[in-house]
Amino acid sequence: MSDRPTMTTTAGAPISDNQNSLTAGPRGGILMQDYQLLEKLAHQNRERIPERVVHAKGWGAYGTLKITGDISKYTRAKALQPGAETPMIARFSTVAGELGAADHERDVRGFALKFYTEEGNWDLVGNNTPVFFVRDPYKFPDFIHTQKRHPKTNLRSPTAMWDFWSLSPESLHQTTILFSDRGLPITPMHMNGYGSHTYSFWNDAGERFWVKFHFKTQQGHEHYTNEVAEGIIGKTREGYQEALFGAIEDGRFPRWTVQVQIMPEADADKTSYNPFDLTKVWPHADYPPIDIGVMELNRNPENYFAEIEQAAFSPSNIVPGISHSPDKMLQARVFSYADAHRHRLGTHYEALPVNAPRCPVHHYHKDGQMNFFGQKTGNVDAYYEPNSVSGSAAELPSAKEPPLAITGDADRYNHRIGNDDYSQPRALFNLFNDEQKGRLFSNIAAAMGGVPGAIIERQMAHYRQVHPDYEAGVRAALKAAHGYEADTISTAAE
Ligand code: NDP
Repeated sequence: MSDRPTMTTTAGAPISDNQNSLTAGPRGGILMQDYQLLEKLAHQNRERIPERVVHAKGWGAYGTLKITGDISKYTRAKALQPGAETPMIARFSTVAGELGAADHERDVRGFALKFYTEEGNWDLVGNNTPVFFVRDPYKFPDFIHTQKRHPKTNLRSPTAMWDFWSLSPESLHQTTILFSDRGLPITPMHMNGYGSHTYSFWNDAGERFWVKFHFKTQQGHEHYTNEVAEGIIGKTREGYQEALFGAIEDGRFPRWTVQVQIMPEADADKTSYNPFDLTKVWPHADYPPIDIGVMELNRNPENYFAEIEQAAFSPSNIVPGISHSPDKMLQARVFSYADAHRHRLGTHYEALPVNAPRCPVHHYHKDGQMNFFGQKTGNVDAYYEPNSVSGSAAELPSAKEPPLAITGDADRYNHRIGNDDYSQPRALFNLFNDEQKGRLFSNIAAAMGGVPGAIIERQMAHYRQVHPDYEAGVRAALKAAHGYEADTISTAAE
């Protein structure tokens, strides 16, 4: 007798022959009753689920968050108390490319984290940049359309990208990072992660603080130039998967130093910039980063699809002591991420093993597609609430967060009025040395190939406001790359 397990149908019945279909005679005539064959074909038809509209291509691993600092005066979150160790999973990604896109493309990288805390899952769904292209979620679908394929050509469109960016000066900060060295890290391990949004902490005394999260790579920042990356993509489209999976298999566990910036609640009215604006950072000099611990990735998933493709991160997942802020983009993502998962994975996506909390779960949601668990209320008779059934799940009033003060008249405020979109990109530009600036200019010029002069000139006006050297550098690079000169082309494009 074989010591191998018996092959079965999904219903558990033994399969006697997995090589030959059931036919009437050796020359054909398949029988409908060959359910093994039907099941096999039907399953294959259903192996794909919708890929993520953004952040489709990703790489991930499990690890641990260890807290070494003491921020207990700011937050009551158990996972952030001194000495706490919390299991977690990370998924990194590119933004624009589809599921089969090459890993080494110039793009922002997603930096999504799920911490399985004893008080519920806490997700921090950030990027490798501290800011974003837009500050109002109303513009997000339009922005993403410019990053995806043109409806007729089915090609990516530099014209659409620069048309949108040049009409949206709040994008300058993010595009300056995107076309700088940090826009093309050599692996997911060689980049920082940022929570990007402003979140909040609250403590046992009911005090709220605004907070930004930073994950500083301990592997060091390393980047490829466009030219080197093109050579790599010619050899492998899976360079990040190979690097991350390989490092963890070899025991070379990547680590990030975890930091927070803390802003007292009342400061939000005093800063010259809106601290809830996702296109802005908080200057380190004003709000110094505080080291609070280390995040390490140390275990590869056993099944990529089950554990990474189905990993569902959402900023809606917060725990007592951590909460949201008036950041408009964050408020919209609280809806749109969970909505995307219900669409891609189904109503009960949080019950999938990779997404399931490691703490007890008791809720009154019921039934629905793929409900593979029983009533989660503590008592089967308690399938509604309120009830008088003993042993059923009850509220925890002490988990109530302090009030979030929101004031102002409801209106569609012009989010560009009163916003300085140039100072922070200028501060970043001034950090670059001459070589870094040179690569910034040539990366921008390369990305502007084929863009009409009128759009280029609109963007040049923004670079001029950041720094005259920025405009001059991009102009020189455009001339070198495409023979572009404003006098000839901008007129022609009017
Ligand atoms: P600081 O000089 O105190 O901070 C500058 C930060 O810029 C560094 O800590 C580093 O962030 C980041 N940085 C350094 N070199 C590069 C580079 N080549 N490409 C991208 N980022 C780099 O000044 P401020 O805090 O006043 O910030 C100045 C500018 O730095 C900002 O306008 C912003 O563009 C950028 N920046 C600021 C961050 C912040 O949270 N304040 C975070 C990241 C960038 P890190 O330590 O995270 O690597």
